[in-house]
Amino acid sequence: MSKKYVYLFSEGNANMRELLGGKGANLAEMTNIGLPVPQGFTITTEACTQYYEDGQKINDGIQAEIMEYITKLEGITGKKFGDLENPLLVSVRSGARASMPGMMDTILNLGLNEDVVDVLAKKSGNPRWAWDCYRRFIQMYSDVVMEVGKKYFEQLIDQMKEARGVTQDVELTADDLKELAGQFKAEYKSKIGADFPTDPKEQLMGAIKAVFRSWDNPRANVYRRDNDIPYSWGTAVNVQSMAFGNMGDDCGTGVAFTRNPATGEKKLFGEFLTNAQGEDVVAGIRTPMPISEMSEKFPEAFAQFEKVCKILEDHYHDMQDMEFTVENGKLYMLQTRNGKRTPAAALKIACDLVDGGMIDEKQAVAMIDPRTLDTLLHPQFDGEVLKKTPVIGSALAASPGAACGKVVFSAEDAKAWAERGEKVVLVRLETSPEDIEGMKAAQGILTVRGGMTSHAAVVARGMGKCCVSGCGAIKMDEENKQFELSGKTFHEGDWLSIDGSTGKIYDGAIPTVDASIGGEFGRVMGWADQYRRLKVRTNADTPHDAAQARKFGAEGIGLCRTEHMFFDADRIPAIRRMICSDTVEQREAALAVLEPMQQSDFEGIYEAMEGLPVTIRFLDPPLHEFVPTEEADIELLAKDMGKSVAEIKAIIAGLHEFNPMMGHRGCRLAVTYPEIAAMQTRAVIKAALNVQAKHPEWTMVPEIMIPLVGEVKELAYVKKVVVETADAIIKEAGSNMKYLVGTMIEIPRAALTADEIAKQADFFSFGTNDLTQMTFGFSRDDAGKFLDAYYDKKIYENDPFAKLDQTGVGKLVDMACKMGRATNPELHLGVCGEHGGDPSSVEFFHRTGLDYVSCSPFRVPIARLAAAQAAIKDEK
Ligand code: PEP
Ligand code: MG
Repeated sequence: MSKKYVYLFSEGNANMRELLGGKGANLAEMTNIGLPVPQGFTITTEACTQYYEDGQKINDGIQAEIMEYITKLEGITGKKFGDLENPLLVSVRSGARASMPGMMDTILNLGLNEDVVDVLAKKSGNPRWAWDCYRRFIQMYSDVVMEVGKKYFEQLIDQMKEARGVTQDVELTADDLKELAGQFKAEYKSKIGADFPTDPKEQLMGAIKAVFRSWDNPRANVYRRDNDIPYSWGTAVNVQSMAFGNMGDDCGTGVAFTRNPATGEKKLFGEFLTNAQGEDVVAGIRTPMPISEMSEKFPEAFAQFEKVCKILEDHYHDMQDMEFTVENGKLYMLQTRNGKRTPAAALKIACDLVDGGMIDEKQAVAMIDPRTLDTLLHPQFDGEVLKKTPVIGSALAASPGAACGKVVFSAEDAKAWAERGEKVVLVRLETSPEDIEGMKAAQGILTVRGGMTSHAAVVARGMGKCCVSGCGAIKMDEENKQFELSGKTFHEGDWLSIDGSTGKIYDGAIPTVDASIGGEFGRVMGWADQYRRLKVRTNADTPHDAAQARKFGAEGIGLCRTEHMFFDADRIPAIRRMICSDTVEQREAALAVLEPMQQSDFEGIYEAMEGLPVTIRFLDPPLHEFVPTEEADIELLAKDMGKSVAEIKAIIAGLHEFNPMMGHRGCRLAVTYPEIAAMQTRAVIKAALNVQAKHPEWTMVPEIMIPLVGEVKELAYVKKVVVETADAIIKEAGSNMKYLVGTMIEIPRAALTADEIAKQADFFSFGTNDLTQMTFGFSRDDAGKFLDAYYDKKIYENDPFAKLDQTGVGKLVDMACKMGRATNPELHLGVCGEHGGDPSSVEFFHRTGLDYVSCSPFRVPIARLAAAQAAIKDEK
């Protein structure tokens, strides 16, 4: 049997998400459980894939199957496509496996033409409605299918409103709308050079194609990359018979959540707009009423809707985000899905669902997106300063968090300013999906228009980005890059602070304070800790960072980069002296100055970690970063070392490397200057002995890590220096303290010879930053310049420095683990590259059998949750 590409809603169910997309699967499920859903069918994600395989064409077979289902839908509804008696109108909407809000496009009222609209006007006795549908259809079709910008049509509407002396769309009459439809078609013809299509079949195929095409639009590609959604999934298309919210005052359309998506409060939350259609609510064209008001104006439909909400939550065991329409007082459900929510709401909802017996703790752990935890851990405004700062405006608290930055007015500016290191707040009249990259780059977003379900609010919430929306008090002058609020004119570059948790807007920059975690966050993390197998350590180089990471639940330090301890102005001269020494004696003298600094740092870190394991990596500095570049500094160093300026300059020139990333780094330094390794060993061991003496209750086992090893003999050589030095100190102290010597696996050759290397190592820690760089053969510092071209061409879907390339680099990791353990069954395995805090990479490390991941302090909770989710997934 040939492949089936189209399914009636009555043929699908919620488990068919991969094939029918989230929207399609849920429409089918709602149909199955008997909810009022306008019937229709779903064209599968496989049809989308086929469309691309066929060179962006819907092949004849699939077209025929779609038309067969139109006939079936005609049978179900008793209406006919293009009919002059009882015409069928449909909506065409995208629906990928994972919901991608604002990313894809919708077309409503498809099937209309001049003849059909007349029939509708006459038969319904409501010509205003018929013409409203038609003008909307022309507008949406032109925009989405033919890519004639929306703005041309909006201008025509504005002109018409002005000419009629009205302010709202709903005040336009049937004749106005009819005239507008004519103007729209003329606009279409002038832009496209052809008449607006009248054949419903042609309209349908055009719309379906547009949905398929939108899968590959730039903003969808950016969204996918941010959300780990593979390009190969494709989108489904839903064709559904229309229910009309714009037939009059006993009609309307709404968007609602079963719980508050900002706070998690268990209370219906949403908006409803009378006499309106689909996109009006999200677009923020008119200000909708809160859903609670709907209960007064539409008591019957509201009661029915409340019942549906309960059924859906009980069915899906999660908070639902729904779209619905009321047509002449009767409720129709157009969509349901697990609602997007703020991180704080996600935790509250998960806990409430557990407490309400709807889900168990494991399900609660599994339902939270680890990436979103980030925002909970980030700074909020300093409460004291906040109290004293006058509020200059207030609007909807659309997405929580504190943001402070310089005002910019366009997404492009937000991106450009952020790229040059400026913090910006993006201020817009309203946002559209094209703004996504600018929103990402900004600290926060402030909009003049739009409600809680507007594009800006939904997208910001999904990103965990601070957003205040719908500030109608702002007088916007985008053209001149300025706005007025509370009597003050703000220009581009002026500082502004906004609070997405309260909706308040402040003049100037307000300092922020660190977030504290507890309550529901602590509860969920506690559950996560029960299920995970992977330990989670942190990458920290100072006692402060170590203490911060402990608060976030780090179980040790997986990477202490010792070169980072010399960035301070008062320390850099000492390391410069070491680097510019040309005899062993000179170098040892410089090292003698560094040693007590290192030792006291290590003691501070050991104290902060309270006896937990700490891996100290030996020096791995790109030398050129540490030598002076300023004339004054060079002179100072020359004086300090009793050399001439010319001599110092000659040394600096000699240190120049063409590719410092592949240069005199890591263990290569210790091989050339073993006295460095000896000094660091003394500092580590003495610090551990001192801390052990102070805290007999802890068992100190220092872990020394040798970086950038590619050959076992390199490791053996440095290890010998370490062991001789350490053993002598431990013996002299009369202690029996144990210590470990391990290596980073960050050079492909190390992974390839892991069996040999493991014989010399107590542990491996995968340095996936360097391992990625050297496996791909591009520099981690330079790849950003050309990766965009690779994304555009679909050669890479993700930045391999952020998300582990499991196919290539992952293969090396997996192989090195197996080979290492084969020759050293006691080998302890971890990862300390950036990937240690990336959820999908953490899942890979779990599967590969590592013992721990190590990541920056703020990502520790993310890794804990991701590790638990990986373990839960593994059980299934
Ligand atoms: C690595 O290469 O993955 C690593 C952790 O070391 P660094 O980033 O310091 O090179
Ligand atoms: Mg490295």
